[in-house]
Amino acid sequence: MSQAEEVVVSTSRSAKGVSSSRPAPATTTLSPPRLIELSPQNLYDKCMALARNLWWSWHPEVTNMFRELDPIRWRQLDHNPIALLAEFTPERLEARAAELVLYSRINQAYRRLKEYLAGESTWSNVHAGVLGSKPVVYFSAEFGIHESVPIYSGGLGVLSGDHIKSASGLGIPLVAVGLFYDQGYFRQQLDIDGYQHEEYLQSRVEALPIEPAIGADGEPVMVQIDTRSGTLFAKVWKMSVGRVSLYLLDSDVEGNKPEDRELTSRLYGGDTRVRIRQELVLGIGGVKAIRAMGIVPGVYHLNEGHSVFATLEAVRGRMDRDGYSYDESVRRVARQTVFTTHTPVPAGHDRFDSGLIEEHLGPTRDALGISHDQLMGLGRVEPHNHNEPFCMTVLGLKLSRRANAVSALHGHVSRKMWANLWPWRIEEEVPIGHITNGVHVPSWLSWQMLQLYDRIFPVNWMKRMGEPDIWQKIYEVDPGELWETHYALKNLLLQFVRRRVSRQCRRRGESDEAVEMARTVLDPNILTIGFARRFATYKRADLVLGDIDRLFAMISDPDRPIQIIFAGKAHPADEPGKGLIRKIANLRHDPRLASRIVFVEDYDINVCRHLIQGVDVWLNNPRRPLEASGTSGQKVVLNGGLNCSILDGWWAEAFDGRNGFAIGRGETHLNDEITDRRDGEALQKVLQDEVIPLFYDRDPDGLPREWIKMMMNSISSLAWRFSAHRMVMDYARACYVPAAGGVSCDMTNR
Ligand SMILES: *Cc1c(COP(=O)(O)O)cnc(C)c1O
Repeated sequence: MSQAEEVVVSTSRSAKGVSSSRPAPATTTLSPPRLIELSPQNLYDKCMALARNLWWSWHPEVTNMFRELDPIRWRQLDHNPIALLAEFTPERLEARAAELVLYSRINQAYRRLKEYLAGESTWSNVHAGVLGSKPVVYFSAEFGIHESVPIYSGGLGVLSGDHIKSASGLGIPLVAVGLFYDQGYFRQQLDIDGYQHEEYLQSRVEALPIEPAIGADGEPVMVQIDTRSGTLFAKVWKMSVGRVSLYLLDSDVEGNKPEDRELTSRLYGGDTRVRIRQELVLGIGGVKAIRAMGIVPGVYHLNEGHSVFATLEAVRGRMDRDGYSYDESVRRVARQTVFTTHTPVPAGHDRFDSGLIEEHLGPTRDALGISHDQLMGLGRVEPHNHNEPFCMTVLGLKLSRRANAVSALHGHVSRKMWANLWPWRIEEEVPIGHITNGVHVPSWLSWQMLQLYDRIFPVNWMKRMGEPDIWQKIYEVDPGELWETHYALKNLLLQFVRRRVSRQCRRRGESDEAVEMARTVLDPNILTIGFARRFATYKRADLVLGDIDRLFAMISDPDRPIQIIFAGKAHPADEPGKGLIRKIANLRHDPRLASRIVFVEDYDINVCRHLIQGVDVWLNNPRRPLEASGTSGQKVVLNGGLNCSILDGWWAEAFDGRNGFAIGRGETHLNDEITDRRDGEALQKVLQDEVIPLFYDRDPDGLPREWIKMMMNSISSLAWRFSAHRMVMDYARACYVPAAGGVSCDMTNR
């Protein structure tokens, strides 16, 4: 949980590296030998080893073990085990472990981690052996792995995190490259007027599971990037995510100008110049860092356009090291490169003007031996159009042999959007395929549902979760038990929401009465709808408010009421988005809605996890086709919630008429105004005619039989298909293996 009060707030970079006031564990003296299996120091070291590999974050038995050590501090410290352990001496930890009988659990967890890291019988060994000696290098501007590691802002980051976790699980040789943001993304607070305020918190490096990356020369890696306006330096951190090493570049080093030291401090802050410099560090710096560590990539996977400068540095490396010509190097690098695009809106792609490109890529193009016009041409649809800026996606498409969108529908949109790059091809043959996103099951599955699946699925089901047959077993579960499990999860969600909302009220200085009321908002017996995502206007958080009187009638229906939980951040510069938040947050002043509509502040992985595990219905109503994929609804599926969504992104290919609800039929209208009106009507109609009646249709035992059947349909038809395991296996077979020189099994559009 994100309790701001427990975290050091600072805007000054100098705060970084200041050690905590707690005693450092290493300085404590060893206690005398005892007749127990572990010395206090040994026990402490094992716990710390567990805390320092994010493997723990998708193993509930390890997470629970950390929580039990001190449940209150665990929550206050954002579920950060390193920060928690720093508050223990080995002796106190031992005493606590004895009290809770944790020894064998700690030992067992430690042994499991060791075995996992050594594990050799993986999916990849059988299916992707060619990668063995040539790892995939996966680039992304953000990684959402756990709430305690704030180097992500939203969906793209969580997708990258899930991708590398599944790559680890499947044993795919992969290293990842990103940026180290020591202030991460902002923490959201709403004021009494419902207006969003942003707060940036300084991470304490010593409380994060990172360490300096060591180069092939045995020294900490430092990369150097020449520009026309001086040299940029970056150091490199290493983070362990299961079997995957994630390398994070950090420009906060001596030798950089003060403004450059801050370059990587925040996600998506700053102007275009900051942006290109961040992308320079990520792409060019990333390839240099990999090289410095002696890693020879088999494949470059560039997740979204932010990192595609990497291709230029890779080409330079080929010319340097292998002596190939520029043209031959380009061909070879493109053959190795996989590019994933995520943005269905033309304006959403990074573009830089000629001056910024020359300033930042000038020295690189000197080394490549190409002219400024040639370089600009690589980022232009029409290479010689001097009015066209340099587009990162265009470079990505030109310098990769395999490119993909992130859902079937997004594939169509992307082929249309970039068709003019291949004017000689018809649209269907534009070489952009698709691999639909999926989620890392162990990270998003609730402990309660895990117990249920463990009982009915085959023993090793977690390793085989990409197989449809496994999930058919859900029909063997007793409907009453499935419903009870869901009800328990829903209660946990409501407790979480009440705790959060009352705290928010108190912080905003609302009346005691309001704080008190917040402690009792929502009712577990009422149909509960969740809506949480970035508050970009195309996601239309207020669509359900379209006909407010009709909504009010649904909310306050005496027999079949509904309630809605909202959460989400607006980009700091997005005033219309902030307006939407305000509009929704202020509904609490309407006495008719007050206890049935809530806004939970500071949406992050933790808030998301609570929501997706406990809601009855997950609502998603973007303006089609602007949602490239969306993944939060896939997390809901695993836990028994139902999706109610516009037929956009993943849902357009997932909905089959019996595994959830569709808003409308996938139509598009003349303009936004008409679209919003029609979709708003369709939304209220599906709620009224389908969702609400099905939920409240109870048998004599009080069970909504048909609803439970739909939960089972949803789990059996969707969980395997929209898992990150399936996604990464698709990448491996269709992209990684052929890009590394193995036999192609092509499922992209090439
Ligand atoms: C999963 C997740 C997302 C992605 O959700 P969408 O469906 O793309 O809106 C965004 N933010 C967080 C914190 C998540 O966990």
